[in-house]
Amino acid sequence: MNASDVFGFADALGPARIIHVYEPSAGLKGILVVDNVARGPAIGGLRMAPDVSVAECFRLARAMTFKNAAAGLPHGGAKSVIFGDPKMPGPDKERLIRAFASSLRNERDYIFAPDMGTDENCMAWVKDEIGRAAGLPSDLGGIPLDEVGATGWGIYQATEIAARYCNMKIDGARVVIQGFGAVGRHSARFLAQAGAVLVGASDSRGAVYNPRGLDVSALMELKKTGKSVSDVTAGEKRDRDAVIDMECDIWIPAARPDVINAANASRLNTKLIVEGANIPVTPEAEKFLHEHDVLCVPDFIANAGGVICAALEYRGVTQAMVFSSIGEKVRSNTEQVLEAVTTKAIPPREAALELAEQRIRKAMSYRRWSLFSSADN
Ligand code: NAD
Repeated sequence: MNASDVFGFADALGPARIIHVYEPSAGLKGILVVDNVARGPAIGGLRMAPDVSVAECFRLARAMTFKNAAAGLPHGGAKSVIFGDPKMPGPDKERLIRAFASSLRNERDYIFAPDMGTDENCMAWVKDEIGRAAGLPSDLGGIPLDEVGATGWGIYQATEIAARYCNMKIDGARVVIQGFGAVGRHSARFLAQAGAVLVGASDSRGAVYNPRGLDVSALMELKKTGKSVSDVTAGEKRDRDAVIDMECDIWIPAARPDVINAANASRLNTKLIVEGANIPVTPEAEKFLHEHDVLCVPDFIANAGGVICAALEYRGVTQAMVFSSIGEKVRSNTEQVLEAVTTKAIPPREAALELAEQRIRKAMSYRRWSLFSSADN
């Protein structure tokens, strides 16, 4: 019997381990999936959510294997989940997270990081329990990656490289950004600093359009007061999803998964999409865009700034060095992927997966287990 018969989803890359944690007296139920550790101990987020299946946890862990390998990090991929409402009272949350971390004390191949429903305080509790956590509060040597804009910085670098493949310059390029949170607002900031013109932006409550350019600093200030980008006076207020139709040169999704799909991909009026959010464009829509000459830089190539920041923080690297490393890695990966797109005439996602998989397989060839692989043949 091969592995895929047992799990239904296992393949030649993993998962290496699936651990169920169940402590009825503590009300603790959780899962850890360590997918592949050939490149080093796996880094991946701890999610707190009411219900996540093992298969979904595996898919998220696999995405981290690809993202970490594509980013050139000496880390494999993993994901963990605690079943529960992330908005539960603080002391209950702390108790569960500490218990979960303690029960995984000996899983030395897994380094915790924050994800949906967990934050830097949760990572401080994990660090206190077992010592292995990234994404810590700055008091503990952490780098507040959403505050400093680590992912936005990487998005800017990927955009700069990709623009060249579209015969465009950032200076004067018209940009639209969907979602004005940590990823969206910092992408806007770095692009505007390089001369791009933000003509449209949205958040969960609405959108705003100004073909002469929006003031990025004013939008950032407005968001700090709890208002929507659509409340800005120097622009036309639009419905939230009208952001898809806004004509521009560069369109950046930085909000939710699957926002561009088979039903709305033809509404986009842009030359370049740089995926800031995770899986913002469905496979069908990516295919449609590729066939219509819209270049789409895949999420795990463009938005790796956050995980690069977390991995380097874990090694005690300073913030200035983190920014230069994100720039170097994201630029070089974007270039490699887009070169393969040009020379092999393949879609960007296929090129990105090839790049990541090549690195993972190479790392696997150095492992003891590769000596056993002839036994399968
Ligand atoms: P965030 O919560 O800080 O911001 C999300 C923004 O999207 C908010 O402005 C929210 O109002 C807006 N939004 C929500 N639904 C929307 C909708 N339907 N239409 C328009 N706007 C909408 O989140 P973030 O950290 O900026 O993350 C955004 C995405 O990027 C997520 O998919 C996340 O998984 C992914 N991502 C984040 C990082 C990171 O470093 N934060 C790294 C990699 C990937």
